[in-house]
Order: sequence, then C-alpha cells, then structure tokens
Amino acid sequence: MNQSTKITNTSAQYFSDNILSWFHQQGRKHLPWQQNKTPYRVWISEIMLQQTQVATVIPYYQRFMASFPTINDLANADEDNVLHHWTGLGYYARARNLHKAAKIIRDQYQGQFPQDIEQVVALPGIGRSTAGAILSLSLKQHHAILDGNVKRVLARYYLVEGHNAQAKFEKALWPIAEQLTPKEEVENYNQAMMDIGAMVCTRTKPLCEQCPVNDGCLAYAGNEQANFPQKKPKKTTPVKQTIMLIPRVENQVLMEKRPPAGIWGGLYCFLELADKNAINETLTDLGLTLEKTTQLTEFRHTFSHFHLDIEPILVDCAISANNLVNEPADFNWYKLDDINTVGLAASSCKILDEIKQLVRL
Ligand code: SF4
Repeated sequence: MNQSTKITNTSAQYFSDNILSWFHQQGRKHLPWQQNKTPYRVWISEIMLQQTQVATVIPYYQRFMASFPTINDLANADEDNVLHHWTGLGYYARARNLHKAAKIIRDQYQGQFPQDIEQVVALPGIGRSTAGAILSLSLKQHHAILDGNVKRVLARYYLVEGHNAQAKFEKALWPIAEQLTPKEEVENYNQAMMDIGAMVCTRTKPLCEQCPVNDGCLAYAGNEQANFPQKKPKKTTPVKQTIMLIPRVENQVLMEKRPPAGIWGGLYCFLELADKNAINETLTDLGLTLEKTTQLTEFRHTFSHFHLDIEPILVDCAISANNLVNEPADFNWYKLDDINTVGLAASSCKILDEIKQLVRL
C-alpha cells in the first residue's frame, strides 16, 4: 500500500457511498441465487463462481438446485451424482468439498447452515472471504469479503503491491477491505464490489471512466492499472504424456473411477497406460480380447500446474471370459447411447464426443 495513504472514516464512507449508489443503479439483482436468498443457495453460487464466469454458472446452478434443493438432499446424494452435476465446470475438488460439507451440516447442525463465521470457515472448501460472502449476502451479517475481483479493485485503488499468490498481499488487503465495508447495506456493498471487479475493474482494459470510485483511485490517477495487482512471475509449465486406453464392447466403453485425491479425483476416466506395449496385457487382465485398434486424435489438457498430452486409443474388444472385466467396483461400462449419471472429466467428454462421431451415435 502506498504508505502515505491513510483510510479515514470520511474516505471510507465516501468510497462505500459511491459503491452503493452504483449498486442501486447498475448492480446485478436478478441472478438466480439472488432470489429467495438463503445461506445454502448463496453458498452453492459462491463455490460455482470461483474461477468460473456468471454466464457459465447459471445453467449448472439451476440444474444443481433442482436436483439438490436442500442441504440434506445434497448430503444424502451419491458422490457420483454430485460430480455428474459438476461435469464441465472443472476444479472438481469444489464439488467434493461441497458434498463433504453438506454431510457435516446434516450430521452436526441438523441440516441448518451454521450462522457463526468460525463454524462456516471450518467447513471443507470455505475460506474466510467465501464465508463472509455467504453470511453477508444471505443474512446481512457484517463481514468483509476479499475474493479475486475485490482484491483487484482494492490493489488498484490504493496501489497495494504484490500478487494474488502471495500471502502478504492478502494480509495487506484484509484491513483495507474491513475498513471500507459499511455498517449498513453490507449485503449490497459486498455484491457491488464483486460486480465492479467482474464488470468494471476488469483484469485487462478496466472501464475506469464508468467506475464509481475513479476520482480516488491511485492506479487510475497514475495510469498504472496494468501494474496492479502485479503479475505472478512466470514459471515454465511442465508437460507430461499419457496414453488413454478405451476398451469398447459394442456400444459400451470401459471407464475407471479415479481415487479421491489427485487430478480428476472421484471422476470417471479412461484407463491410463504408461506404455503401448501394455495394451494386450491390460486387456487380458480385464477378461477382454483385442479385435481392432483405432488411434483417436491426440490433444493437450492443461491443468493449473502442468500440461498433459493425451494419446487416446480406442480398442474394440470381445469378452473372452465370463468374469467380465473381473468387475472391480471402480470400473463402469459407459453406454454411448444412454444418459449417464456419473461425473466425467472434461478430457473424457472430449474423447467420448469423438467416439460417438466415429460410431455415428
Ligand atoms: S478507476 Fe479503474 S482501476 Fe481504479 S478501481 Fe475503478 S476501474 Fe479499477
């Protein structure tokens, strides 16, 4: 923070008054989770909106709430079904944590979302900012928030140095967020700060002319918007390779449930092989005989910390033993022409699309 900048009560009031008057004129008020606001409804929206745009979230949110209208409905659902509702949204740990937290709320809080911020922060997948957002937006409790959008606005407004991956950056921003959060209309103020970060103070090309706090913004005054927050120093992203084996028997392909931890945790994926020479042995272990091999299109899937180059191989098979696939519990025959209700990784969806085209389903 610019050391000469002190936040007085008057400057905080001026800031929040301008934010609130912008909210009343231009803030978003008609999003699905802004209707019939409850902690549960806001919680689901806040988790879905992490790393994901509003327009993408809306249909997922509606489907999710239709299937799991209460916390107990979510807690009592199968994990596969919860992940199925998340298929395509990415960052699946979010869905697994939602499910875990719902079970805790069912078992420890009689299915009622806790209203004490310490209890909320103790739930899996809920940090301080998300807890503050849930309790302020749904119950009007007085809590500051500091999500990625709010961080950007405040860092620019006060020229706070650092980048999002640094703890000291967040540490410097919390007291600012708290001082600026008004006693009245906290729910509207917090919503407005998230909206301004998403719609006005955007990562690139912020719309400063339309910003309600542009007259006090230090980045705007010094034309330094592009320098705040600072960019995280770039590291070269490692590239890994994998072969994905897709055994097909008639209109079914074999998938395997991943272990809960690690990439694609809990989702159904195709079998990973380190070496093509292992294809025959793998199929034999599964009680299958290879009839035909088809090389599918290779592609790259990028995770936050590495690229994965995927070589998918479709193998048409016959069942060679009665003990079909030896039926370990974590295998699943996925019907290509049916609606499935398990969670799939985005890479699996891509491969399935190609297979369906190939076999004209
Ligand atoms: S004036 Fe520009 S940089 Fe400053 S807070 Fe507003 S949009 Fe962001």
